[in-house]
Amino acid sequence: MKYGFLGLGIMGSAMAANLVRAGFDVTVWNRNAAKCDQLVALGAKRGMTPKEVASTCDITIAMLADPEAALQVALGKDGVVEGIGEGRGYVDMSTVDDKTAGAIAERIAAAGGRFLEGPVSGTKKPAEDGTLIILAAGDRSLYDDAAPAFDKMGKKRLFLGEVGQGARMKLVVNSIMGGMLAVFCEGMALGKKGGLDPAEILEVLDAGAMANPMFKGKGGMLLEGKYPTNFPLKHMQKDLRLAVALGDELGQPLHCGASVNELFKRARAAGHADEDIAAVYQVVELP
Ligand code: NAP
Repeated sequence: MKYGFLGLGIMGSAMAANLVRAGFDVTVWNRNAAKCDQLVALGAKRGMTPKEVASTCDITIAMLADPEAALQVALGKDGVVEGIGEGRGYVDMSTVDDKTAGAIAERIAAAGGRFLEGPVSGTKKPAEDGTLIILAAGDRSLYDDAAPAFDKMGKKRLFLGEVGQGARMKLVVNSIMGGMLAVFCEGMALGKKGGLDPAEILEVLDAGAMANPMFKGKGGMLLEGKYPTNFPLKHMQKDLRLAVALGDELGQPLHCGASVNELFKRARAAGHADEDIAAVYQVVELP
């Protein structure tokens, strides 16, 4: 089985590396071609275009920034649709909305290919450790065929049904995560203003029912005042924007989600787009 991998950002580079290390035959492509070098050094082949990768691999996986990137790589010039042939598979693991996933699925099917969406829960470290949670939906036979690769990238995988349900699950999870992070930052800022030791706030949280790895990990960044990027803040704002749009579409009010989206928009505008999501703290705490 030959695998292709398109998109070697923070997540894609780690996920593709796990496939190469596991001994899979992997061809990689990235818009900025220099990012392929590390994977090629590890044993991957270099692809020249998404079209070429999709036409030479049995299953091509993508991990791209946002709906615009996912559409460009799948449907644009020299894109996946131009290369995918009868029976070949395309698995898009980028976080996008259900409409984007549906549009790509339709074009892949029209070209004779099989499509699966597979957004992931988990960040840079789980991507490196192969412990992501994979939220797949679409073509069941492709899900089964890609299972050996999923099991090198993730610790858990779910098949959620029709295309769009993977995107919806991912947006639900990230809107909850964004909300938790926002209220966590507010609590930390309030505590600091009230003369509490932030390390002790973390200690109290960690000892009780609200203990969780995110408060621990992001709390450490807040204490240090440094935000090395695991999950770029601009991508979280994109997820919140897409979740709010889904709420509009389904008639589900998202009072908190909409407000948290505005907070992340402010953080982007303040120059924190490429920092970690925890950098949102910098627009929560007043000087
Ligand atoms: P990233 O480091 O910003 O990487 C983005 C990738 O998309 C890069 O390979 C980039 O190529 C490519 N790209 C962007 N625009 C493009 C375009 N127009 N055409 C072709 N390629 C394009 O992001 P990431 O953190 O790996 O995240 C990737 C996806 O996973 C996003 O949808 C994100 O929301 C989701 N996700 C991220 C995390 C996380 O913790 N980081 C966790 C779960 C899910 P270049 O290198 O050429 O710019």
